[in-house]
Amino acid sequence: MTSICTNLQAVRQRIKEAAELCGRSPSAVSLLAVSKTFPAEAVREAAAAGQRAFGENYVQEGSAKVEALADLKLEWHFIGPLQSNKTRLVANHFAWVHSIDRLRIAERLSAQRDAHLPPLQVCIQVNVSGEQSKSGVAPGEVEELALAVAALPRLTLRGLMAIPEPSEDPAVLARRFGELARLRDQLTARGLALDTLSMGMSADLEEAIAGGSTLVRIGSAIFGSRPSPVSA
Ligand SMILES: *Cc1c(COP(=O)(O)O)cnc(C)c1O
Repeated sequence: MTSICTNLQAVRQRIKEAAELCGRSPSAVSLLAVSKTFPAEAVREAAAAGQRAFGENYVQEGSAKVEALADLKLEWHFIGPLQSNKTRLVANHFAWVHSIDRLRIAERLSAQRDAHLPPLQVCIQVNVSGEQSKSGVAPGEVEELALAVAALPRLTLRGLMAIPEPSEDPAVLARRFGELARLRDQLTARGLALDTLSMGMSADLEEAIAGGSTLVRIGSAIFGSRPSPVSA
């Protein structure tokens, strides 16, 4: 078993090579370490190796880790599906939320964000694959949602996020990532100042960076494979 520190170095190297291959600066792509299902000790190990930003998918698990590791002053990102009855914990434990896909959730997060905290940094999740996946707003509905979210007082809209369906075909991935980048450009043309394209995971970070990703969300390549979900 390789160590988290070694894995982190390998991921940073992949980011660097992918960026250089398409003429981008490696510093234009930030690394979010996705620690869902892994214990707080694994996060400590990654933090000791210099990693500052971590992503969590589940409200209870993530909030518990945020509290247990408060001494490390890490930057926490919520990247999982969010139900409206769980927004309060997320509004006050996390610096970022990537998975905004309806106005009601955004309104609650804005209303519940503590006054002494800086605005919550958010991305709108877009369903770029269409068919199967249920999370994310349809591409045709992004603009209306983005304009409404950008107007909320305690949120700062930073950009768009997507989780394209896995594909062995780089051309299919390139199309999905390209679609997200195009939507971002459309919103920019509408006057929204967006600097974040949250796309790319362990299996497709190279294609995402080629497509303009500014933030890759990497779990298994850093922490190892997760137990597969128990089928319902
Ligand atoms: C789990 C997860 C990741 C990380 O996936 P890996 O394939 O382990 O890198 C990234 N983004 C989201 C939204 C996730 O749920």
